[in-house]
Amino acid sequence: MFWKHFTPQCVISRPTIMRFILSTLSVVFAFGFIANAAPRAEHVFIVSIDGAKPTVVAEAETPTLKKIAAEGAVTWQASTIFPSITLPSHTSMLTGVGPDKHQILWNSYTPIKGFVKVPTVFSLLKAADPKAVTGMFVGKVKFRHLWLKDSLDVFDFGGPQTRDPVAGTLEIEKDKKPSQMVAKQAAAWIKETKPRLTFIHFADPDTAGHKSGWGSPEQKEALKVTDQALWQVWQAIKEAGIADSSVMLVSADHGGHDKTHGLNIPDDMIIPWLAWGKGVKKNFTITAPVTTYDTTATALWLLDVPVPAEFDGKTVTSAFE
Ligand SMILES: [Zn+2]
Repeated sequence: MFWKHFTPQCVISRPTIMRFILSTLSVVFAFGFIANAAPRAEHVFIVSIDGAKPTVVAEAETPTLKKIAAEGAVTWQASTIFPSITLPSHTSMLTGVGPDKHQILWNSYTPIKGFVKVPTVFSLLKAADPKAVTGMFVGKVKFRHLWLKDSLDVFDFGGPQTRDPVAGTLEIEKDKKPSQMVAKQAAAWIKETKPRLTFIHFADPDTAGHKSGWGSPEQKEALKVTDQALWQVWQAIKEAGIADSSVMLVSADHGGHDKTHGLNIPDDMIIPWLAWGKGVKKNFTITAPVTTYDTTATALWLLDVPVPAEFDGKTVTSAFE
């Protein structure tokens, strides 16, 4: 129809029409790009240092953490959830909700209890982008409770596992893996896959705390070793060539007192929370209150995944430009 009325005698020439079509197409493309603007970060790394109490971190040889704080945004006064124990706290860190909603109230690997009943940061990302590469590298096997179907491309624990010949169930001989081993696995995988979302968990400072006490020389040594493991992960992000498009969030699940933790007291409840990378303010002290479930909200915001309305967590926007 359109072309039928279009004759050489027409005042609007054919090249003019073509220019009009091309310019219209370019406007459509431009709006398309705006609608699909790049996320704030292409890659997010969440690192948890188990039992890292800020006052002990300050006294330990932790140059990596201090460098991350100097180059990024930090609060040494963030809070975990109550009860301040490993699995409930990490579940909040990775689901964006408190224990009343996620209902992971136990703290051991108990297969009969199944998996977390609310979405995790990984499953929410996969729902938005099924091709996003995701992985968990952990120092404790109980994180299996957070391994929702189709949410992870890699779950790396790597402890020796055997099949019980009588019960036929999977038994875990050793339920902990040292920080350096976790870092080595994670670093190799980061360089190989350039993942969208990775969680890395270092167990050593908690193990040393339970054995020798929070703030003991043994725990400070474990923090030093873990800080070196964190350096290895950080270098892997740089060596993968993705540092300019990555954000790393570093935190802990709880502090501790004596040889334990789990109470609603500052010793156990106060944790560090650091952000480094693309768009993160440099040498910035976060003064807004931060709770561990804000980690998931912030990660989703960075990855351009909608933050669910029922979340307790809020994006830590003050840490970003
Ligand atoms: Zn812990």
